[in-house]
Amino acid sequence: MEILKLGDIEIEYSSDINRAFYARQDGFYCDCPDCLNYLDKLPIVKNLMNGLDEKLGIDLSKDVGQGMDELTPHDSKNHRLYVIPYYIRGKCKINAKNLTQQQNGPIWPNTVIAKYQLDENLSLLITNTPESVQFKGAENILTIWLEFKTRLRYNSNEKEVNKTGVNGFWNEIMKALTK
Ligand SMILES: [Zn+2]
Repeated sequence: MEILKLGDIEIEYSSDINRAFYARQDGFYCDCPDCLNYLDKLPIVKNLMNGLDEKLGIDLSKDVGQGMDELTPHDSKNHRLYVIPYYIRGKCKINAKNLTQQQNGPIWPNTVIAKYQLDENLSLLITNTPESVQFKGAENILTIWLEFKTRLRYNSNEKEVNKTGVNGFWNEIMKALTK
């Protein structure tokens, strides 16, 4: 067992068990703009994690969410907020008190969350996950939700402008050639 301290938060975990779990998981294959954008920004997220992912045995490129847990985008006026679940085997305490296990069903209203802000654009939200999550060799499972603030790779307006721009250009050339 290894111990990680983040402010008032203490996580007891096994990086070997976590690494073995992540080795068996698939990457992100959804091709919606948000998943693609998140994949695009992964190097930035990894930088902000500052080695914490490797220390815990998390592979950020793996899409591990089960059931209702998945990458969720939230719109804001000038940024996009992504919430992405990563599971680890471990126990979490805040101020030496065990984090209460979250109930199955509609979770957020009653869930106790240990929150740690790594950077203005990245926070960790840690919850004690019910045993319904499948994680071979682990009875205590925590979900570490990354809350990552970013911009979309492109916005739909820019995409539209580029499209007409390029098409317009080719149309002009084709017109000139067929004269
Ligand atoms: Zn997606």
